[in-house]
Amino acid sequence: MNLYQEQSLKIYNSLSGKKEIFEPINEGHIGMYVCGPTVYSNVHLGNCRTFMSFDMIFRYFKHLGYKVRYVRNITDAGHLVDDAEDGEDKIAKKARLEKLEPMEVVQRYTVDFHTILEQFNFLPPSIEPTATGHIIEQIEIIKDILEKGFAYETNGSVYFDVNKFNETHEYGKLSGRKLEDMIANTRELAAQDDKHSPQDFALWKKAEPQHIMRWPSPWGDGFPGWHLECTAMSTKYLGETFDIHGGGMDLKFPHHECEIAQAEACNGQSPVNYWLHANMLTMNGKKMAKSTGNNILPGEIFTGENDILSKAFAPAVVRFFMMQAHYTSILDLSNEALIASEKGYNKLMEAIATIENLPEGNTTNFNITDWQKNCYDAMNDDFNTPILIAQLFDAVKHINLIKEARETITADDKKLLEKSIYAFVFDVLGLENTQDANANSDKLSGVVSLLIELRNEARANKDFATSDKIRDQLTALGIQLKDGKDGTSFSVS
Ligand SMILES: [Zn+2]
Repeated sequence: MNLYQEQSLKIYNSLSGKKEIFEPINEGHIGMYVCGPTVYSNVHLGNCRTFMSFDMIFRYFKHLGYKVRYVRNITDAGHLVDDAEDGEDKIAKKARLEKLEPMEVVQRYTVDFHTILEQFNFLPPSIEPTATGHIIEQIEIIKDILEKGFAYETNGSVYFDVNKFNETHEYGKLSGRKLEDMIANTRELAAQDDKHSPQDFALWKKAEPQHIMRWPSPWGDGFPGWHLECTAMSTKYLGETFDIHGGGMDLKFPHHECEIAQAEACNGQSPVNYWLHANMLTMNGKKMAKSTGNNILPGEIFTGENDILSKAFAPAVVRFFMMQAHYTSILDLSNEALIASEKGYNKLMEAIATIENLPEGNTTNFNITDWQKNCYDAMNDDFNTPILIAQLFDAVKHINLIKEARETITADDKKLLEKSIYAFVFDVLGLENTQDANANSDKLSGVVSLLIELRNEARANKDFATSDKIRDQLTALGIQLKDGKDGTSFSVS
């Protein structure tokens, strides 16, 4: 019996605007697609929050015993800068600014993305496909949509015909927009525009001579429109209809709306059963943006090299901070909030470290089975991690009372408590215990400081044999002493 057979999970579906009982297409299996990063700059902390929300969801599904195929793409073909679709390709623009090959930009920032996600203790997705690796699939979809009459070619570009599509389908059903309103709110097309209507979007764009990233196609040299890659890769790896599609709230319109239109035009059926959208991260009450300076990179938080926070924060603490909010709520990052999270995280880790050595009694003062059920109820209610964390702190309270001999726990309950708390904290929330590593490095500096003191005493007594022995043997262990005017410091290689 798998856990998922006992647990009834409810998910907020952006498509219906309601919480729905989750039922996968194939029992025991889940297909999940999440829109990945455009790799033209360092990964944004707000995007890390989105990906972390889906990492937690992926982890919970796995914990419940589902076999999950999790696809998260890398957008390396560059998409257009603005929705007007006459902007520049982000990756090509960056390549020009940095005098790099576009694929050099892609490589650099893909490595950065993976490094940061690894520091945050993400599980890798099952497949991480790239847009440039799926140009042929994208061209095939365009041919299909053209054949079915939902697209037209003008001047080497192909556009999706939104008005035609809306005659038989519903364009705007995900974002709750009506095509009539969209038309009323847009200005008229310029005479030279290739599009028939402002709502139409590019499936294929003709490459101007200066455009670096280009591929041959039946319509001439060009590049795919920015909504198409996700339709191509999700249907290729998950099928024409799959369980879950996720992404940031900002992708709901137009990106996800266009994905639905493309897939329905092509396959005649709705591509996704549950649409999930993660909310944004703000900093000090304001939107995070590079242009306003209200921005911080994940790496700058981990090292403390920034002007915004008073100290460095470990990735596990930042992860804990993000898990303290529900994924559909806006979360505000500030120095105070991170300090409070660090305190909470330390308290949780300290309690976990003591479970093993708790004294065992004949009775248990709190009902572990009820507590465990509360934890599952929280997660089953649209992955409510803040409620789960509140339950974890309820357990921490009891652990501390047992430690102080004010409450008792039986040996069996202790085992159950330890197993559950480990599963929720490490497997589901994906937190890492970095306290052990910190404690060991504190011990090491204590020992080396003691040896430096003994060496100083030996030198003061002109006992150079002993002082040299201490220095040489530390060097042999990879610990270098450096004598300066403020005393002796050390480094570990
Ligand atoms: Zn996408």
